[in-house]
Amino acid sequence: MGFKYSEEAVERLKSKSIKPSIQRVAIMDYLIMNRTHPSVDDVYRGLANTIPTLSKTTVYNTLKLFSEKGAALMLTIDESRVNFDGDTSPHTHFLCKGCSKIYDLQMPASVKEVVGMSLAGHQISEIHYYYKGLCRSCLEV
Ligand SMILES: [Zn+2]
Ligand SMILES: [Zn+2]
Repeated sequence: MGFKYSEEAVERLKSKSIKPSIQRVAIMDYLIMNRTHPSVDDVYRGLANTIPTLSKTTVYNTLKLFSEKGAALMLTIDESRVNFDGDTSPHTHFLCKGCSKIYDLQMPASVKEVVGMSLAGHQISEIHYYYKGLCRSCLEV
């Protein structure tokens, strides 16, 4: 029993009508505890020791399910990998072209207001707002 039961992760899954299996709870917990926008590989490497039966395919399918159900965000900011975010509140992402780190930034209020609105007859449910550039640590070097 290497895995620690996480109530917050279980609640998040239940609130999104996702059956909380042990693997799903562990993956959700990893996202909640690691606000670094991990990739499938990061999540797999982070949990492989705790859950030896876990496969990379399971991690990918589970993260995809989470994003479809609104329990996590799937970020396509970096064309070389897909990243996931346990923080589903409206915020924007900044990708550093120097170190590939993804930072959370505030979303401009005017952009946030568009969620739930109708634009040209289309109903908006998600906004993905990306910035790219050089982060402050890369600028210092
Ligand atoms: Zn950087
Ligand atoms: Zn984020």
